[in-house]
Amino acid sequence: MNSRTESADSGSDRSHCPRPATRAVRAGIETDPTHHAVTPPLYLSTSYAFTGFGERGDYDYSRSGNPTRDLFAAAVADLEGGAGGWVTASGMGAITTVLHALLPAGGTLLAPADCYGGSWRLFDALARTGRLQLRLVDFSDTEAATAAIAAGADVVWLETPSNPLLRLADIAVIAEAAHAAGALVVADNTFASPVLQRPIEWGADVVVHSATKYLNGHSDVVAGVIVAADAAVSEQLGWWANTLGVTGGAFDSFLALRGLRTLHLRVSAAQRGAREIVELLTSHPAVAKVHYPGLASHPQHELAVRQQDGFGAIVSFELADADAVPTLVAGLETFCLAESLGGVESLISHPATMTHAAMPADLQAAAGITAGLLRLSIGVEDPADLVADLRAALDRVGIN
Ligand SMILES: *Cc1c(COP(=O)(O)O)cnc(C)c1O
Repeated sequence: MNSRTESADSGSDRSHCPRPATRAVRAGIETDPTHHAVTPPLYLSTSYAFTGFGERGDYDYSRSGNPTRDLFAAAVADLEGGAGGWVTASGMGAITTVLHALLPAGGTLLAPADCYGGSWRLFDALARTGRLQLRLVDFSDTEAATAAIAAGADVVWLETPSNPLLRLADIAVIAEAAHAAGALVVADNTFASPVLQRPIEWGADVVVHSATKYLNGHSDVVAGVIVAADAAVSEQLGWWANTLGVTGGAFDSFLALRGLRTLHLRVSAAQRGAREIVELLTSHPAVAKVHYPGLASHPQHELAVRQQDGFGAIVSFELADADAVPTLVAGLETFCLAESLGGVESLISHPATMTHAAMPADLQAAAGITAGLLRLSIGVEDPADLVADLRAALDRVGIN
């Protein structure tokens, strides 16, 4: 191969902006001015000395600002294509901050009927105490969603793909309708991660993450991130995160930045495993239905191809016999029965009794959460082991 041609193709020009996977790996590398450490140091100090009377340095107090946390925030903001970002103590802390900053008192929030159970609990509690008006919408029905937006909204909340049924919202169309109605669009991008989808590119104003999931990816940190497209909105969000006291811890940020370096590798490996698991599920007689945007039979497969750079590693399926759920789960060895997702290890959860247990039965039914529904978060184990384990468990269910 002609190495000259190759280097021209891969952009050896020094002004070339590194690709996202490179930027994720190199975030904060070689930035230590004191000892030139290759990986950035961890600043645990709560306080920073003034350089002189009335002369504040870059930092003063760690709730308001911390160098380690700032590196993680900047790395995620960069991957999402935003103007600025903030790290919070949890994904719910990020969501709380966004609501305080962007939703006027008594304002209207449009949220997905099948949103994350914890988000629904917060929205519902704030609606009950009169802080906001909550309207639940099926955002996979673009016409119904744009009509709901035209009827009046202050903030439009999106989760795409949604949890646990992996329904999609057309971010570009919804953002256009929202902006025409004077509303802001917030996208919870936890499921896709910036590797697979960058909502700001499609018109979203703010992105929130539970960094507990893919961004950290090792199931050992609870954290959140907020990214805003606009610098002034970002400043406002940062002011609220500090004022509410929900900014993230330095050690959590250190770990999450370390996890973020392998985000692209992890998501691509997990996706490979998910494809094999989907093949098994779609061909097994014990399974009644498979929910995965990569399937041509998924009602929004075309949108997934257009809006996402991959179909992800979350797969939901319904057992033909809902009573067999405990048997199936008990027979698994490589999947843990646990809430959460996006870690290197594979998990299985039962939304009706776990993640969405706080949601009353009628709302669960409206959101399509049935008793036989199970959600898999595929990790980065060897896909052959995952397939063998799940096949054996499904075969046992078939016999019972
Ligand atoms: C987990 C999760 C949250 C909440 O994040 P925490 O870090 O647990 O507070 C919000 N949205 C989605 C989609 C989630 O999966």
